[in-house]
Amino acid sequence: VPDSPDAVLEGLDPEQREVATALHGPVCVLAGAGTGKTRAITHRIAYGVRAGMLPPASVLAVTFTNRAAGEMRGRLRQLGAAGVQARTFHSAALRQLQYFWPKAVGGELPRLLERKVQLVAEAAARCRIRLDRNELRDVTGEIEWAKTTQTVPEDYPAAVAKSFREPPRDPAETSGIYRLYEQLKRERAVIDFEDVLLLTVGILQDRPDIADTVRGQYQHFVVDEYQDVSPLQQRLLELWLGERDTICVVGDASQTIYSFTGATPDHLLNFRARHPDATVVKLVRDYRSTPQVVYLANGLLAQAKGRAAEHRLELVSQREAGPEPVYTEYADEPAEAEGVARRIRELLDAGVAASEVAVLYRVNAQSEVYEQALADAGVPYQLRGAERFFERPEVREAGLALRGAARAGSNDTLLADAVDLPSQVRAVLGGTGWTPQPPAGSGAVRDRWESLAALVRLAEDFARARPAAALGDFVAELDERAGAQHAPTVEGVTLASLHAAKGLEWDAVFLVGLTDGTVPITHAKTDEQVEEERRLLYVGVTRARRHLSLSWALSRSPGGRGSRRPSRFLNGLRPGSSAGGGRAGGGGGVERGGRSRKRRGPVRCRVCGRTLIDPGEMKLMRCEGCPSDLDEELYERLREWRSGQARELGQPAYCV
Ligand code: ATP
Ligand code: MG
Repeated sequence: VPDSPDAVLEGLDPEQREVATALHGPVCVLAGAGTGKTRAITHRIAYGVRAGMLPPASVLAVTFTNRAAGEMRGRLRQLGAAGVQARTFHSAALRQLQYFWPKAVGGELPRLLERKVQLVAEAAARCRIRLDRNELRDVTGEIEWAKTTQTVPEDYPAAVAKSFREPPRDPAETSGIYRLYEQLKRERAVIDFEDVLLLTVGILQDRPDIADTVRGQYQHFVVDEYQDVSPLQQRLLELWLGERDTICVVGDASQTIYSFTGATPDHLLNFRARHPDATVVKLVRDYRSTPQVVYLANGLLAQAKGRAAEHRLELVSQREAGPEPVYTEYADEPAEAEGVARRIRELLDAGVAASEVAVLYRVNAQSEVYEQALADAGVPYQLRGAERFFERPEVREAGLALRGAARAGSNDTLLADAVDLPSQVRAVLGGTGWTPQPPAGSGAVRDRWESLAALVRLAEDFARARPAAALGDFVAELDERAGAQHAPTVEGVTLASLHAAKGLEWDAVFLVGLTDGTVPITHAKTDEQVEEERRLLYVGVTRARRHLSLSWALSRSPGGRGSRRPSRFLNGLRPGSSAGGGRAGGGGGVERGGRSRKRRGPVRCRVCGRTLIDPGEMKLMRCEGCPSDLDEELYERLREWRSGQARELGQPAYCV
């Protein structure tokens, strides 16, 4: 703990000190990644507290994730400023809501809705609208957007028209689903994530007495990652502030990655206009990354377009030179995962701590193949924001049931008719209520079914590889696999989506799956959406302190057509590519990762090349690449194949 307030300022550069000592009036810090924004505001709070100018309980620091909030609290404690509230908007609002609900509304605060998508699906079904998984995701996203922009169902079509966004489907339909979704929530006495902010804002607006109490408690506000504040969060902030301007915001317009939820960097960029007397500080020294990483980050930004890009800030690295970023092209995804796992193994063997390594991807579904590859390479890892397969409750339960059945052996009536191993596994799972036919719809029930279906397919693979294996052997195999995917207590390599990596940093960062269609993602269609994808890649690149690896695979599965291309954002940056894009280059400087060793013969869509069934990953995919979905008949056949009713699927498979 620093022994004086001034000691808290040590280790800050002059601009950061300016931030830390500007304790009165509005303060705005506009600065690029790794320039010490989070550090500056943390030290600012600590300095104010230690100097006796900010009572700890009067400060509310708002961060973007719970993890960031936890880190800030830890840092404040180390600086001798414990007791400051550091929370996300959501958790700060929830706390206030729980406290004021009985007085403002009466009774207990309604339960929080856990499975939102499921309720949206139900609302759609009641509107007689059939949605596939992608459409469901789109509609759910639209409802979230509407709520964070404080748009009621009736106003949604007009708001969409005004927003210059391309709605994923007929706004009148979405509006209908949205209305019913709200109704279902009321009927079931639940509130969703967005309601927490909406209700807090509503109460603070309608009840001056309650607003006064909150304002009496919090006098000083600090907001990190302000570029991603949504209109609703901004409203809440204004209600917390009242007439005061004791607010300090920091952000980087080039890292705006949540505008799909209604967030906008406008509040950050217009801060000075709203607060003409604000202290505005710019930071350009990058303390996080080597010149090599910074060079790439600046190069990415140089190509950016749009309002956020007009405010880009060229970074200047303060660190010693490090290794060049490594670009690697692989033939297929399993090969990419194996190659990345191998590189990570080498880094760990060279003394890099596993907790200093991250694998970052665009969508969570990409994690599975990396989980497997890291487990195979004996590398401990942890997932952010998702559960590991063998830790899912239904998988654990099934494991127990299988173990019990293996002990009972063939005398058990349950197994009397089941001759081969997969049938035995199906029979045991049947005893826990599982059926070969998937349940209708999506949601939790369907997810659980999928997990157990994956176990059945695992049994089928295992039986093919070891025809004489008994149930006990399979249980032993499961134990081994579960054990290989290390206990969560081990500080391992981080597997996370690019969104979840915001604000964090690691010595070595592997950006994987960098193909056109993934970054930018296929459903980013408008220029603005594509620019947001570029910023997402910028966020990824700037997470690396020293080692940065960028890789992609030309096809999804072994033996694929190789029709994918590296992300267009790397054109002109990746060695051997021209800025114009297209197929140019790929050569000089880009390493070839080759093909994967395992070939399991996936079934691919003949139109877009996407894998529909990957026996290696035990997965059935619905096609995202083609304009229309799998036809019903094919889907039925896939179901039968998956549930073990049909031995062969048979070619051809296609999505249209
Ligand atoms: P992001 O935009 O990614 O959130 P940031 O601007 O918040 O980045 P920080 O996370 O605060 O940056 O700092 C990046 C790294 O640089 C951290 O490891 C931090 O400790 C270090 N750092 C910041 N300022 C200094 C400084 N003046 N001297 C030494 N190290 C510093
Ligand atoms: Mg930060």
